[in-house]
Amino acid sequence: MGVLEKRKDPMGAAIADFYKNGVAGRLRVMSSMFDEDEIPVEHLFRVFEEMSEIERVALELSRGRCLDVGAGAGCHSLALQDRGVDVCAIDISPLSVETMKHQGVADVRLADFFTDDLREQFDTILMLMNGSGIIGKIDNMPKFFARLKILLAKGGQVLLDSSDLIYLFEDEEGSADIDLAGDYYGEVDYAMQYKNIKGDSFDWLYVDFETLAYHAEACGFVAELIKKGEHYDYLARLSCKNL
Ligand code: SAH
Repeated sequence: MGVLEKRKDPMGAAIADFYKNGVAGRLRVMSSMFDEDEIPVEHLFRVFEEMSEIERVALELSRGRCLDVGAGAGCHSLALQDRGVDVCAIDISPLSVETMKHQGVADVRLADFFTDDLREQFDTILMLMNGSGIIGKIDNMPKFFARLKILLAKGGQVLLDSSDLIYLFEDEEGSADIDLAGDYYGEVDYAMQYKNIKGDSFDWLYVDFETLAYHAEACGFVAELIKKGEHYDYLARLSCKNL
């Protein structure tokens, strides 16, 4: 993995355009599993009042030194800074990182959660807008929790949101047509495009709370369900049992 090249950073290009011009073109999202979709670029610049309840609760629970993982345009980091919370924002998108600097995020770094050495520990690790996405595949759970152990300070917490994609496979009676022997149903592949900038395709994991809690337990963590959203989404807190 590692950080992106600028010529393969469609979301960063969209974010930079919107920041400079107040408007952006279409940020297209392709997947082998879904019809083509778009991310409304202005949504990445939402302020506290425009955020979902899950996001607002996560920000209210953020304390101590915070790490905003996959910070994008920096909306959560800026909201925390406004509240006097000490936050470091990381992202693999060079153009997003540049924009966060322009936006006034005080501590922002071009870094990959999985591979870059951040040389410090955090009381709160924030992972929002399907924060489980960067885990990519269920098989990466042990690697994910191993990274959290390195990055969490004593008594630290991870606040992460995700959705249970089961609704995509349910019929009218509510019974799900999924292949239990196949891959986990929340494993998605995406590729993005903005103007003529195409990104490489990447794995993005949606995980239901029970599955997250199962893997947390197996890796020495506890998962708590903090809040359910309006549509199969939720906010969870992860903490390490022996930290
Ligand atoms: N949290 C922001 C943006 C979410 S989009 C918001 O809620 O608006 C997900 C972001 O994660 C993108 O900016 C992407 O570049 C970043 N990202 C993906 N994989 C990453 C990784 N391994 N380490 C750090 N950032 C990552």
